[in-house]
Amino acid sequence: MATHLVWMRNDLRIHDNYALHAACRDENATVLALYIATPEQWRAHDMSAKQAAFIYQSVQDVQQSLADKGIPLHYLQCDDFSAAVEALKDFCQQHKVDRLFYNYQHEVNERQRDAKAERELYDLDVVSQGFDDGLLPPGSVLTGNREMFKVFTPFSKAFVRRLREGMPECAPAPKPRNRAPLQEKPALKPFDYPQEEFDEELFPAGEKTAIQRLREFCQQPVVDYAAKRDTPATDGTSRLSVYLVTGVLSPRQCLHRLLREHPDALENEKTFTWLNELIWREFYRHLLVAWPALCKHQPFIGWTKNVRWQSNEEQLTAWQQGKTGYPIVDAAMRQLNTLGWMHNRLRMITASFLIKDLLIDWRIGERYFMSQLIDGDLAANNGGWQWAASSGNDAAPYFRIFNPTTQGERFDKQGEFIYRWLPELKDVPVQHIHQPQEWAKKNGVRLDYPPQIVDHKEARKRALAAYEAARK
Ligand code: FAD
Repeated sequence: MATHLVWMRNDLRIHDNYALHAACRDENATVLALYIATPEQWRAHDMSAKQAAFIYQSVQDVQQSLADKGIPLHYLQCDDFSAAVEALKDFCQQHKVDRLFYNYQHEVNERQRDAKAERELYDLDVVSQGFDDGLLPPGSVLTGNREMFKVFTPFSKAFVRRLREGMPECAPAPKPRNRAPLQEKPALKPFDYPQEEFDEELFPAGEKTAIQRLREFCQQPVVDYAAKRDTPATDGTSRLSVYLVTGVLSPRQCLHRLLREHPDALENEKTFTWLNELIWREFYRHLLVAWPALCKHQPFIGWTKNVRWQSNEEQLTAWQQGKTGYPIVDAAMRQLNTLGWMHNRLRMITASFLIKDLLIDWRIGERYFMSQLIDGDLAANNGGWQWAASSGNDAAPYFRIFNPTTQGERFDKQGEFIYRWLPELKDVPVQHIHQPQEWAKKNGVRLDYPPQIVDHKEARKRALAAYEAARK
């Protein structure tokens, strides 16, 4: 009788899990699953303590779901990816595994690990099979010259054309195996990695809850998404990112659920707006494969390497702590530090502020976000930061610089979001909430809030000069 092993990583679910589905196809095979924690590697990748805690709960949840199907999920901990390959080999030998099944991860270190594992397992007579875990595999959406797209809009159009030609299918959860549900599950020790509590009402762990949230979002909220998604005070986005990042949900499930509720989602501008965000997610993944140097934090646009960044610890700390004197930036950073999540519009504003107003290297911001985000993801985070730094795949040129005050006035008109996160501004009247220092000065009020750490007009000029010099 054959023994099949499913190596679980960022695919902590039993529904629509291609690797798990394939491993279970042979009804007579013994199916095992394995999760390997790699704390040293996580440290090197700046994984946040909130994400570690979320993953831990998700591993527990999927272990129970698998046990209900008669599949034991084993757990190992090693330092890094190279040790993980050794541990995997030992596990395969110990359990007489014949075949390994896994879903791809597209980052460079992960791909190197998997290639090594496949090679070395082959020498031990274990045949491996990998599966793409996205909507369409990297390399399958190309320009007429068979190259990867460098900007998003034509990529998205080609992506939709490919979807129309053939939708990726969702795989069902496995049927219970022949043996009865497991009475005893393998031990799951706490990760040897810092874990920090996260808001379990906002991000309840567990596959069932995630599916339920997806269903609810795809009923009405997705229709209002286009109108509400840029207003941080409103709960207008899906908040599904952490489930997608950890693979508790798959993007294929999102696509199919959306189409089930709204069969015209590919044509209907309103519902397509949300699908288009999932295509952004795919875009950044496809880019990582086409330009692996992105994983090494290299800029996509070469000349931006020459920008002379400032090193200013005091200003960096003010940005990190939400004490820049720009209310929308500070409220956003407090949201990040507290929840481990930040609204997309605010990710753009705060990233732009660090890079263009403070002229601090985007890689420093990228790392800080990773260290805080519950939904930290190399592809999306790097893509977002390079977009803000004008070093990546934004169609707009480097001289697009957000004005943090007008961004606040536009997207948080009534200051609702600012009042929520900056209680020290509670007495400032709404018409002055975006420039409270001016109001305080005029009225002789002493505010427990810092002055602006840079003058935006001056900072803008400085940034333009730095980029122009770099381009020359
Ligand atoms: P929704 O608006 O409901 O979107 C649905 C899903 O689409 C998201 O869950 C996400 O998976 C995907 N998505 C949405 N917008 C983007 C985008 N711009 N790029 C890629 N995928 C997108 N997203 C992450 O998942 N992890 C990150 O580490 C991350 N870092 C970012 C850093 C910066 C500087 C910027 C500008 C954006 C970053 N994003 C990141 C993208 C985006 O901000 C989040 O995906 C989104 O805010 C998550 O909230 P949501 O689930 O409610 O999204």
